[in-house]
Amino acid sequence: MAIIPDTKDWMWVTGRRCPDCGFDPAGVTPDTVGPALRATVPRWHQVLARPGVRERPDDSTWSPLEYASHVRDVCRLFHSRLELMLEQENPGFTNWDANVAALEGRYREQDPAEVARQLEEAAIATASTFEAVTPDQWERPGLRSNGTTFSITTLGSFFLHEVLHHMYDVGA
Ligand SMILES: [Zn+2]
Repeated sequence: MAIIPDTKDWMWVTGRRCPDCGFDPAGVTPDTVGPALRATVPRWHQVLARPGVRERPDDSTWSPLEYASHVRDVCRLFHSRLELMLEQENPGFTNWDANVAALEGRYREQDPAEVARQLEEAAIATASTFEAVTPDQWERPGLRSNGTTFSITTLGSFFLHEVLHHMYDVGA
C-alpha cells in the first residue's frame, strides 16, 4: 500500500487491529494520541537522516522522504480537523487528496532536514491539542466528505494509525 487516499474508507482501522502494522485501536483515546505521536518524532528524524531517503523502493512506492512529507501534512490536516470539531458543532471536512498534495507540495524535492523540522513542529502542535481535549469532548462529531462521521476518539485513532502505518511502510 503506497498511500492512503482520503477518499477510500479506512474507517475500519478504528474498529480492529491492522494486519500490516499491528496497530490496535482498542484503548486508544484522545489522551493517549498525544504521547504516542510525540514518541514517533525521534524515529522520523532517524528516517530523514538516512542516506537513501530520496530513493523509492519501486515505482509505486513512495520514498521515505515522500512518506515523511505526507505525514507532516497529515498532522497539519488532522490538527485543523480536530480544532474544527472542538470549535464547531458537527463540522464538515473538505476532501483531501494525498496524491495531489504530494505533487503540488513537491514532496520529492523537499530538503529532508527541513521536513524533519516541519514534521516535528506539526506533530508536537497536534499532540498538544489532543492532550488538551477533555473526556466530555471525546464524542464531539465531525462529518467526512464521504458521509461517515468521526468522533474525536475515532479521529484520533484513525490519525494515529496513519502515522504509525507509514512508519511501518518505511521500516522505522
Ligand atoms: Zn496499519
